[in-house]
Amino acid sequence: MSDCIFCKIIKKEIPADIVYEDEDVFAFKDNHPIAPVHILIIPKEHIETIDDLEEKDKELAGKMILTAKKIGRDFKIAEGGYKLLFRVKKHGGQEVDHVHLHLIGGAMLVERIYPINSE
Ligand code: AMP
Ligand code: ZN
Repeated sequence: MSDCIFCKIIKKEIPADIVYEDEDVFAFKDNHPIAPVHILIIPKEHIETIDDLEEKDKELAGKMILTAKKIGRDFKIAEGGYKLLFRVKKHGGQEVDHVHLHLIGGAMLVERIYPINSE
């Protein structure tokens, strides 16, 4: 999609710190990192949100996760562990409408999700 910032990064029309690329997926450093390692893994195909994924995309979705695993090892954060995050649409806090998997690590990430009815 021509006005999508992540499509422009894939086409190298705007710069990014690229860490991995193959025929299906692309990965680059987040330019506002929230941890020592913060990388975005995206499909080369412009798919707006996880909610737009279809049956035909299941291999692609799996490949994004396996790419995160590979990059986690390459960046030596696999042993300590890391966080993988998809934000989905407005309530999920998604700001860029091109599916992206956040790989976040290199530090102890203490944020937890608690039940809304916890005392
Ligand atoms: P989300 O809030 O899940 O949609 O995440 C979008 C992410 O994209 C944010 O963490 C931004 O810092 C990141 N981002 C936006 N523009 C760029 C860019 N040009 N290069 C690298 N990361 C970007
Ligand atoms: Zn796009």
